[in-house]
Amino acid sequence: MKNPLLHYRLMTPGPTPVPPSALKILGQEIKHHRTEEFREIFRRAIFLLQEIFCTQNKIAIMCGSGTAAMEACVVNAVPAGGKALVLYSGKFAERWAHLCKRFGITPILYEVPWGEVFLAEKVAEFLQREPDIQAVFSTLSETSTGVGHRIQEIGREVAKTDALFVVDGISGVGGMECRTDAWGIDLLAVGSQKALMTPPGLAFVAVSEKAWRKMDTTDIYPPAFYLDLRAYRKSAETWDTPYTPSRTLIAALAENLRILSEIGVENIWAHTSRMARSVRAAMKAMNLEIFAKEPCDVLTLVKMPEKIHVSSLLTRLEEEFGVKIAGAQGDLKGRAIRIAHMGFIDYLDLIGCVAALEQVLISQKWPITPGTGLTAMQKKWLEKTV
Ligand SMILES: *Cc1c(COP(=O)(O)O)cnc(C)c1O
Repeated sequence: MKNPLLHYRLMTPGPTPVPPSALKILGQEIKHHRTEEFREIFRRAIFLLQEIFCTQNKIAIMCGSGTAAMEACVVNAVPAGGKALVLYSGKFAERWAHLCKRFGITPILYEVPWGEVFLAEKVAEFLQREPDIQAVFSTLSETSTGVGHRIQEIGREVAKTDALFVVDGISGVGGMECRTDAWGIDLLAVGSQKALMTPPGLAFVAVSEKAWRKMDTTDIYPPAFYLDLRAYRKSAETWDTPYTPSRTLIAALAENLRILSEIGVENIWAHTSRMARSVRAAMKAMNLEIFAKEPCDVLTLVKMPEKIHVSSLLTRLEEEFGVKIAGAQGDLKGRAIRIAHMGFIDYLDLIGCVAALEQVLISQKWPITPGTGLTAMQKKWLEKTV
């Protein structure tokens, strides 16, 4: 039997834990949405999203998981028969390519091995060589590899062309630096259940003027109805949504955004980065390898040594310690673990996670002593006092 006194510590890169004040809102009665009361909540959510996304752009809020936001980007950015550049490295980058193919768009792949980064010069070369590329699809934090990509530099190159710059910021935005306007991001896809600390179910797309112009001036009609972004723009004029919004989730979101905004988005980025550096220091001290050459701040993907049995390690972490972290995907499946450090996951959760990980690794005969990771982690944490 599961121990009912064990705290459940959700530390996966989506979903992530929800703060208590938002949980309370989630328990409230269901009310109608075509009301002044909801319009006010909606308006607040949009303004706060703009603040956290660092944008003045209009933002569509849809029901759906992050993938719905990605699909909205694809169908609205490029017509069938068009061409797009996909920065291809990892499970979520692959999703951009699958989406393109599904809608008759030819994906040109700029591929690097999992764990490596894309170079802005190379992106520029692709765009020069094939000027009919209509959009560049990229990923801020590739959740399947733990890489943080050089979105700012790439954005600078894309901005010189007519192509739209599309970024999957689903796991990164709200946890690590992402300056939508300053970096020239035309379509930014985000989901509710990662750094924004809200249950799964909301998808966001921030749309630049350049992207609206393209949607307005081409005769493409998106091969989608629910995901046609123009409908969201029109309703937003009166702080409405075109179809029934998830009022409950949006109200909880507004509360979580208020918390983030009160702390300040740059402080959140600094805090997330400090947690990330501490976790990486712990892993290195335990002789474990961080997979990403340039790791992102919202999660850490740690390679597991051959002799470690990963699925039983994950089970023991959960059953003995209540620590729920994630395994890995694709070729890394069974060979790595992913620890999230964003949103409502705090430093002491991470201390607990590292302590539990040490114990399970030791039980699997990994040659470390208790406290090896913890000592390095605490030293790293103390390097910077806020
Ligand atoms: C979680 C995630 C997605 C997919 O989101 P769903 O909510 O599962 O549809 C896409 N991209 C990245 C980078 C993610 O982390």
